[in-house]
Amino acid sequence: MISVTQPFLPPQEEYQKYLDGIWKRNWLTNMGPLASQLEMELKDHLKLKHLLFVTNGTIAIQMAIKALEITGEIITTPFSFIATTSCVVWEGCTPVFVDINPQSLCIDPTKIEDAITEKTSAILATHVYGNPCDVEAIEIIAKKHNLKVIYDAAHAFGVEINGKSIFEYGDISTCSLHATKLYHSIEGGLIITKDSELLKKLSFIRNFGISGFDSFSELGINGKNSEFHAAMGLTNLKYISKIHDKRKSLAALYDEKLKGLKAIKPLWHNKANENFAYYPVILESEELLLKIKAEMDKQEIFTRRYFYPSLASALPYLPKLELPITEDIAKRILCLPFYYDLTLEEIELISRVMLRIQNN
Ligand SMILES: *Cc1c(COP(=O)(O)O)cnc(C)c1O
Repeated sequence: MISVTQPFLPPQEEYQKYLDGIWKRNWLTNMGPLASQLEMELKDHLKLKHLLFVTNGTIAIQMAIKALEITGEIITTPFSFIATTSCVVWEGCTPVFVDINPQSLCIDPTKIEDAITEKTSAILATHVYGNPCDVEAIEIIAKKHNLKVIYDAAHAFGVEINGKSIFEYGDISTCSLHATKLYHSIEGGLIITKDSELLKKLSFIRNFGISGFDSFSELGINGKNSEFHAAMGLTNLKYISKIHDKRKSLAALYDEKLKGLKAIKPLWHNKANENFAYYPVILESEELLLKIKAEMDKQEIFTRRYFYPSLASALPYLPKLELPITEDIAKRILCLPFYYDLTLEEIELISRVMLRIQNN
């Protein structure tokens, strides 16, 4: 059996060392020393001034919408994980979907202005598979129309553009540190902003809006994370360059072995480094995809239709809108097994099976 993803796990004794400290201090959650240490080490690693460690990547988006006081319509992408859209609806706002660029698979900035109405207050865009959106074009549109920008950067850990972290773009960027992500703390998320006042507000929101012993500054929620999760984040951070190098070599092998496949890969931003978070292929047709997937399922090689279906046409709580490029790509894109412990032999096997089905 080959699964589509597998979490990275560090040597157990290295995690255990952090647990010894937790037992000594008996401080389990509520922004303890390990959570603070993780924030410091991540700021250092990512060359960022501010960030917050929160419960998960979903609450990070909700807190961002809340902190920026966004209401009304939010322009967003239909080609993302469900959380990108559900957070908008959960916060009482209306998602307005704009189609994607067929090469980058990120929101197409040339189509954003047509979707702006007097109710629009923000743009929420995803760096799909870690591939940066056209952040410069989005910034120009946002400034012109006085809109806030949030990036769902759940996939984008370690991506830099023009030598600076992709997390620096937008009013707020959010990241997920979920176990299935490239770098994880089991469950976890990050909120990044350059604005120190906004960061302060977010830190109150993370803790029920409590701003002092007997005072509340705003409406908050429980967005805190625990010492146990921070410990996993700290342990895994020591392996981040090893994880990156391994994934890079796995991707290169897939590239080589799948040369004959009738498929293309998303076009990566020309000023950004790749973080090798996923290995998606856009197949020639949905028919070929279904044939490949069915045969692979039989052999217990699990692939995932990610992202499928389009968020604009598949949610029971929203009106259905078929955006042509998203509909087309979502039907033809398949994420192949891709994780740290995947072996070269497994990639050879997966590639062989795919090519055989195609050429049959
Ligand atoms: C994983 C993911 C999220 C949600 O993150 P969680 O940590 O699982 O809550 C949001 N957006 C995208 C694009 C994701 O892939």
